Amino acid sequence: MAPAKTFRREVHSVVAILLLGAGAGLLLDKPAWGLAFGMGAILSLWSYQLLRVQRWMLDPTVEPPKAGGVWGLFLDNIYAIQRRNREAQLRLESTLDYLQDSLAAMRDAAVIVDPHANVAWANDSADFLLGINFPSDQGQPLLNLINSIDFREYFETDDYSDPLRVLPEGDRGRCLQFEIARFGMGDRLVFARDVTRTFRLEQMRRDFVGNVSHELRTPLTVIKGYIETLQSLEEFSATRFQRPLEQMSQQALRMENLVTDLLWLSRIEAVETLRKTELIDMPTLIVGIVAELQPAFPERRIRLNQESEAAIRGDERELHSALSNLVINALKYSDGDVVLRWWSSENNATFSVNDTGIGIEPHHIARLTERFYRVDKSRSNAGGGTGLGLAIVKHVANSHQADLTIDSTVGVGSCFSLAFPFDAADTL
Ligand code: ADP
Repeated sequence: MAPAKTFRREVHSVVAILLLGAGAGLLLDKPAWGLAFGMGAILSLWSYQLLRVQRWMLDPTVEPPKAGGVWGLFLDNIYAIQRRNREAQLRLESTLDYLQDSLAAMRDAAVIVDPHANVAWANDSADFLLGINFPSDQGQPLLNLINSIDFREYFETDDYSDPLRVLPEGDRGRCLQFEIARFGMGDRLVFARDVTRTFRLEQMRRDFVGNVSHELRTPLTVIKGYIETLQSLEEFSATRFQRPLEQMSQQALRMENLVTDLLWLSRIEAVETLRKTELIDMPTLIVGIVAELQPAFPERRIRLNQESEAAIRGDERELHSALSNLVINALKYSDGDVVLRWWSSENNATFSVNDTGIGIEPHHIARLTERFYRVDKSRSNAGGGTGLGLAIVKHVANSHQADLTIDSTVGVGSCFSLAFPFDAADTL
């Protein structure tokens, strides 16, 4: 029956009972008593129904007691809501089981951590990779179970946009890569993957490039020496010898630059994850770079706007190399003034280099920091470029947790910025 009709019926019955009570009271010449009796009858009936509801509530999984009128409607509605809730809960539980089964089957370690940073759940791989056993470690603080300063720092930050690599201690240890995702009301899902194989391969590649570059240095020095000797000899002064000798000398110089950059790059890569703790006086470093480069480009003007005294934690040689590379590029790929700026905001201290040169088309920008990527090979070679400059800058940026930004418009110029995390307490 429609709820409105049921309600109307209920009102009619209440009114009927009251009228009946009042009528019976009138017959006995006590209408008020009759009315009170009617009300009492209604109250008793409702109390009885309430008692049945209360009894049923103790075990609401069974069907509700049969009742007519408004009470029947009321009980049916409660029962329907409860059934819907139970179904939703079952669906949720089966989804959770499914998710936990899939996490349990993963080869990566997965640990769910509650808002108090205690272990709530872990899969089997967590035991193997992290030594976290579920259920025996349930409720234990995660940071007591994973013994790594780097992980502690990573876990306690709010920024999980990049994964964390924890390097093996010694030759036999594992290299683990951690990723953390937040979910629910402050819970966290911690993933750990064994990347030892990739790490060792990268290490081998780095060592190989480093060793080859190192081994090439001696033969190169010998070749350069002989070319210089030949160029100075009377017998080779004829033009037909001078041109080839000149080209040999240029190519030997290019090779030397390549070897130097490759060696430097493998050194930076090797120490990329090491903490940089030395406090570097950036204004002085930048002034030094200008003083070194200006004489090499006498017809150009390097303007410097020092707007901050900020010092940052880093490695002086690496920073010198990265900043010089940016300034040299600006000088190489433009004809006008080059403007350098050192300025700080609340969280960053930024070095930027502006030029009014040829600019870079947008589709090249994302690839500029790849090794040997060059927009215009002939132009880069003519300027003595190796294609490794910006790769070096990128690695130095990574090892200093800095962001490299490239803004450029073809025909207008480029702006390369390095934004370092800045702690005001580090001011010299
Ligand atoms: P290279 O040794 O060739 O200069 P880099 O890695 O330093 O190598 O730079 C990669 C490429 O990026 C360059 O070949 C050049 O095409 C482009 N580039 C770098 N800096 C600038 C700049 N300031 N203006 C225009 N193009 C640039």
